[in-house]
Amino acid sequence: MENAYKLLDGRSIARDMHQQLSQDVNALGTDGWPLKLVSISIGETDAARLYVRNQKRTANKIGIGFEERDYPSDTSESELLGIIQGLNTDPRVTGIIIQRPTPEGVSVRRLQRSIHPFKDVEGMHPSNIGSIVYEAPKMGPCTAVAAVHLLKSTNTPLQGLEVTVIGHSAIVGKPIAFLLMAEGATVTVCHHETRNLAMHSRAADAVFVAVGKAGLVTGDMLKPGAVLIDIGINQIDTPHGPAFVGDADFDSCAETAGWITPVPGGVGPVTVATLLRNAVTAAQLQRDHYASEFGTSHSVYSLLNRP
Ligand code: NAD
Repeated sequence: MENAYKLLDGRSIARDMHQQLSQDVNALGTDGWPLKLVSISIGETDAARLYVRNQKRTANKIGIGFEERDYPSDTSESELLGIIQGLNTDPRVTGIIIQRPTPEGVSVRRLQRSIHPFKDVEGMHPSNIGSIVYEAPKMGPCTAVAAVHLLKSTNTPLQGLEVTVIGHSAIVGKPIAFLLMAEGATVTVCHHETRNLAMHSRAADAVFVAVGKAGLVTGDMLKPGAVLIDIGINQIDTPHGPAFVGDADFDSCAETAGWITPVPGGVGPVTVATLLRNAVTAAQLQRDHYASEFGTSHSVYSLLNRP
């Protein structure tokens, strides 16, 4: 029998998000709030280069400025903290992105914590992560928000839905679990100590996997018709050269799943669109803060640049 899985096309979902974002960016610009992101890469970042290029191209496409900064690997953490402080107080900068990985001796967590929460477009400042727990997210961590958005795009009712999340990192697995609990789902979280992964995944109506191990989830580990959101990115060698795959064995999972995300082209593009939506939220928060503090919705930047 021909299997009847449906592909969750992240590229097309992201394109729909870009349309709305372009309008929002345009309106903010007219209001005196042009958007600009600053991306900070430190040391050898070849692995992230493609990702940064993608962020820049998409940002520019919807009218957001994107400044790429590359710092040498011997830049100290205190120098970087100083640079971030400068960006925090620069009214021309809407948001700051710290590209991973960072060199040894530079804690990405500490850098992230030093970004002003209103400029934390990656949604990784403790206050933005905490807002998820309090069910009042402003800018959530992009990948987690994107993964949940993909599940919502299937129109599966989330109240009472049995969901298994595989992977419990602070920036992906755990926030996914909190976002889903806020929607009324019943969430099981698995990790490297989980004894019987298949038992948990087979009981779920939707499975999220964010581990970083190609082939971890196979079709026999899924309930027939389940939604599978594959967040993993793994580089593998093929006879045609290196390729990127997710954490799920796509062919066998497609036999059992009702909906499945491809890798690439699933969570990735929606993550970038979510980052840019966070940039719009950041600009709106900054505008509203100015309005309440100074009685004007115009930024210092736009006032300085008046003809
Ligand atoms: P991480 O290394 O911080 O966490 C990995 C998680 O997997 C941990 O919770 C660990 O307990 C769990 N784990 C390890 N082995 C396991 C096993 N055998 N069974 C069950 N759980 C196991 O990773 P991360 O930063 O959360 O990223 C996870 C994956 O998602 C990586 O492949 C990463 O490249 C990818 N990722 C994708 C995006 C995107 O935009 N698509 C963004 C961030 C991360």
